[in-house]
Amino acid sequence: MDEKASQQLHKPMPDMGQDSANILQQLDAFKEHDPNYKDGRVWSLVYYLNEDHSDFLKESYHRFACENGLNPTAFKSLKKFETDVISATADILNGTKDVCGVVTSGGTESCLMAVKTYRDMARDKRRVKRPEMIMPESAHVAWFKASEYFGVKIRLVPLLDDLTPNLKKLKRMINRNTVMILGSAPEYPHGTIDPIAAMGEIAQKRKIPLHVDACVGGFILPFMEMNGEEIPLWDYRVPGVTSISADIHKYGYAAKGASTITYRNMDYLRYQMFVYQNWPGGVFASSALLGTRPGGAYAAAWGVLQYFGKAGYRALAKDTLEAVNRLKAGVEEIPELEVMGNPRGPLFAFKSTSPDLNIYAVGDQMDALGWQVNRNQYPSGLHAMVTAQHLKVVDQYLEDLKKSVEIVRANPELAGEGGAATYGMLAHVPLRGMVKKKVLEMYSEQYKAGGGELDMSAEQTNSGTGKGLVDRMLAWWVARETRRGSGG
Ligand SMILES: *Cc1c(COP(=O)(O)O)cnc(C)c1O
Repeated sequence: MDEKASQQLHKPMPDMGQDSANILQQLDAFKEHDPNYKDGRVWSLVYYLNEDHSDFLKESYHRFACENGLNPTAFKSLKKFETDVISATADILNGTKDVCGVVTSGGTESCLMAVKTYRDMARDKRRVKRPEMIMPESAHVAWFKASEYFGVKIRLVPLLDDLTPNLKKLKRMINRNTVMILGSAPEYPHGTIDPIAAMGEIAQKRKIPLHVDACVGGFILPFMEMNGEEIPLWDYRVPGVTSISADIHKYGYAAKGASTITYRNMDYLRYQMFVYQNWPGGVFASSALLGTRPGGAYAAAWGVLQYFGKAGYRALAKDTLEAVNRLKAGVEEIPELEVMGNPRGPLFAFKSTSPDLNIYAVGDQMDALGWQVNRNQYPSGLHAMVTAQHLKVVDQYLEDLKKSVEIVRANPELAGEGGAATYGMLAHVPLRGMVKKKVLEMYSEQYKAGGGELDMSAEQTNSGTGKGLVDRMLAWWVARETRRGSGG
């Protein structure tokens, strides 16, 4: 191949356009290898109810698909959606009329904004130059991202046996550089609700803002409580809580691209705002991370809140809780399995208590039976994000889980094969920096123009890293170990 040919892109822009019907057909065809979430086989990523509901979301989305929420005074419709969504959110989070907030594009944006806000507030009010945030080990990865993006150092609070943060250690981590404390309701990896009331007391005494990450719990825990479930206090009723993130595109069953960040009052939110008055394009103000903001996502979020109302969400929460409780009970019935911690919401994880039963091998068997089960590390386990839709597959899931455990019990060598071997190694490679470097290399490969075509047949696993990626990771690790001759 000559120099020029080797530099050519594999996929240049088409020279000529095609007709839209043809393209829509192609779009549908591309779905073929995507996870099939419609029959309750997928336990993360998508919060799906049924086709009627999806059609309603799409209808409301497409009515505003081209509208832009950048400037709240331009499209009054979009500002109304935002105001209504924030008010409804403040209501279910038991806030007062002082609560204020912004609709964002997702949980990550909401979390990023909280870190920026509290960093800037501490800079302004206390001249903090080397900002730090205190958060439990179980905090969502979005907070690690925020720390990196905004240069706020993390002090990581270790967990107790029940997977709640060690509050004695948390207290000792507070210093003059602390700009915020974080708790979750619940945390994603195990579904445990952090002791927010106790954390609120600490935060208030030391005059430090406390953010509650209810990205996943915000649109279900309130309805579980309205249904009479005993849920420890975690919202604005806890005096020390200064802000809460809650995603509508999770248990609000909205279209993707809708979350909320609310604050107890404007004294906090004003540090989230960005204003630049000297831009040649005019005076510019922005309330969160995005410039152009997708009107469709706000319309669908507004629509879904009107559609369900409290009664609808309570019914969904009831079905979800029934599914979770039956799943947890079924897992506990299997002698070698144990639910981790004390999950109270819609998520849980379980681990093996027997050295003879590799939990990742159980996961492989579940995958082979057509489920898509996520893996936890530290400690090793399997994870489930349960929705109302899963109620109809509870019995099948538990039957297959029993079957999977039996297979692994009878074939312990499965722990050294396939995904089990890979996940085991990924979790136990001692040089974490090496893991990071290698994942970065492989992940970057997928973003090359004209190269690195995604293997469409590869199953997706956690965090958007394909299974193909993990397999290559394993190959790399094995080759490395062989070279070193360590035999380990
Ligand atoms: C999902 C989640 C996030 C991040 O939300 P995205 O919408 O995926 O960006 C943050 N925190 C928790 C606890 C979550 O469950």
